[in-house]
Amino acid sequence: MPTKSSARWIADGDNLVKSLTKLGYTTDLQYAEDDIPTQVSQVENMITKGAKVLVIAAIDGTTLTDTLAKAAKAGIKVLAYDRLIRNSPNVDYYTTFDNFKVGVLQAGSIEACLGLKDGKGPFNIELFAGSPDDNNAGFFFNGAMSILQPYIDSGKLVVQSKQVKFPEEVGTLRWDGATAQARLDNILATFYADKRLDAALSPYDGISRGLIAAFKQVGYYSAAKPAPCVSGQDAELPSVKSILAGEQTSTVFKDTRNLAAQAAKMTDEMLKGGTVTTNDTKTYDNGVKVVPSFLLDMVSVTKDNVKKELVDSGYYTAADVGL
Ligand code: BGC
Repeated sequence: MPTKSSARWIADGDNLVKSLTKLGYTTDLQYAEDDIPTQVSQVENMITKGAKVLVIAAIDGTTLTDTLAKAAKAGIKVLAYDRLIRNSPNVDYYTTFDNFKVGVLQAGSIEACLGLKDGKGPFNIELFAGSPDDNNAGFFFNGAMSILQPYIDSGKLVVQSKQVKFPEEVGTLRWDGATAQARLDNILATFYADKRLDAALSPYDGISRGLIAAFKQVGYYSAAKPAPCVSGQDAELPSVKSILAGEQTSTVFKDTRNLAAQAAKMTDEMLKGGTVTTNDTKTYDNGVKVVPSFLLDMVSVTKDNVKKELVDSGYYTAADVGL
């Protein structure tokens, strides 16, 4: 797993161990604290120790080519977990969520929050995307722009900073909230001294919290400057609380219990040598081959469905979210 700094990967790791243990496997779970050489050496160690399958959520999807060549030589199967591993023929399968749809849901929540479908506007928006080295980031951004671009073209949405290019203008290395916060601080000071910023597209809850901090810094979340619309992803607890408090607008809930169970199932199928279950054999080209994938679905969560999606499903308790 890439890092413990975000709650989702802790849940992913725990759920993966649980699911694999239930199927009778022994696991070795490692976190690399977002450090690429650490992840490479963790994987190489696992190869040396005789792992049968590597389930990898890559930090940088482009840096494992040599390592996976060693894995292939040793007859080890590889399952890319949540993030596609690029530039390698040695990725056997991939399981993730429908990443384009994640972006569609993020932008859809901003569209609803602003009332764009009812013809309201024009509004100002700024765009934030994920880490350029994470294959998912482009899918999220493209999905979001499939909704937002027509409004930008018609003038109903205006990006005052004109920063719209992924990844060079809107990307956020390592999905770092502080990096995004600093970028928004700058944008607010330069382009919004006498204008309201109505919305910020955010790809991930940790970035959303950074953006909300930047907005607060210049007086938003007050009667004079009410809450802007801010999307998110991963249903992280502090963001769920922020949604209930009327700050963050939405998050995308991807049930990591289902992803872990799916990864465990595919691992088992790979090792038993039968058919491995996939439902998408077209979308995820890693630069060398199209990796057969299994995509899961997800839901957008706003304050209206926190209870139904996050509490009634058992992902959090009512006490966790403060309901
Ligand atoms: C995951 C997202 C997550 C992001 C930052 C992406 O690869 O798909 O769920 O928000 O990484 O950790």
